[in-house]
Amino acid sequence: MTTDTSLIDSIRTRRDIDAVQLHTLLEQADEHLVAALRCAAQEQAVAVYGHDIYVRGLIEISNICRNNCYYCGIRRDNRKVQRYRLDKETILACCRTGYELGFRTFVLQGGEDAYYDDSRLCDIVGSIKHHHPDCAVTLSLGERSRESYRLLREAGADRYLLRHETADDSHYRQLHPDELSPVHRKECLFNLKELGYQVGAGFMVGSPHQTVDHLMSDIRFLQELQPDMIGIGPFLSHSDTPFHDQPDGDSDRCLRMLAILRLLFPKVLLPATTALGTADPLGREKGILYGGNVLMPNLSPMAVRKKYMLYDNKICTGDEAAECRACLSKRMEMIGYRIVVDRGDVKKI
Ligand code: SAH
Repeated sequence: MTTDTSLIDSIRTRRDIDAVQLHTLLEQADEHLVAALRCAAQEQAVAVYGHDIYVRGLIEISNICRNNCYYCGIRRDNRKVQRYRLDKETILACCRTGYELGFRTFVLQGGEDAYYDDSRLCDIVGSIKHHHPDCAVTLSLGERSRESYRLLREAGADRYLLRHETADDSHYRQLHPDELSPVHRKECLFNLKELGYQVGAGFMVGSPHQTVDHLMSDIRFLQELQPDMIGIGPFLSHSDTPFHDQPDGDSDRCLRMLAILRLLFPKVLLPATTALGTADPLGREKGILYGGNVLMPNLSPMAVRKKYMLYDNKICTGDEAAECRACLSKRMEMIGYRIVVDRGDVKKI
């Protein structure tokens, strides 16, 4: 049987995909088709970013969360979690270490923890920008008011990561309790964009009850939002959540999805995520070879690494930041790429 790869050309030239094409690319077992998809996505990423890989230092500032997402290991009702939060000095120390290791972007991620009110957070963001004026500060702290996002932007925050999780409202309800609203989540993303943030959206691949049609809705939503970054990774179950017995998302499906996103959004920042590296020991390398161009290694203090468990078996929780950085450099070299010392802004032209 000869493989018809014309649909890949059609997606690449039209920068669009329909539901039938998405079904074919995600469900067909034809390895030649998958190889053609990978090559096309890789070629596109190299055309825009060369063999440069951008890195962001991820600082997990708190595992205290008021939300109860069914998939997440640090959800409010998980009594087994030893809760922590990092103070300003600790966060600044992580940034200092990160700067020496060549990071020029810091991502502060955490649960929705009321301790980080606007004044505390603006002070932290302002201090990072003061000490490292050549660095970008990214926040990934969930849903906040438009006014809060405005103040944080004023304080110097450059970017915000807020995965939309799923663009389909009824699927959103299957992943979250009623107190969370898909409309509000999307509204946050549009507010962030309007306020001048570089915005990252995204979703899990293989989350419980997800269908190809849901993924099609995700693509349509992303086409509307036009984010600067799209973060995707396989869903991985956590033993102390309502989804403890749900099957993990398939890492190969996630790779196919990455490649499709690269063809649809040629310039977008596309991380090969930690979840992908957890699902497959070579997941991050493969993520790059399927069109990714960003890595987000962990800069959190060793003492808290194992407490920020969004899912079981998360990798790199026992390694120092410097070890993670060195390990990733080697891994990238092995596949012909190099990590660069750069803020790593999205290429606009
Ligand atoms: N509180 C912040 C940060 C959430 S953690 C926020 O709401 O944006 C970052 C991402 O990890 C989430 O957006 C989710 O997509 C992902 N995540 C959470 N639990 C996961 C799991 N069990 N498997 C894979 N990814 C998960």
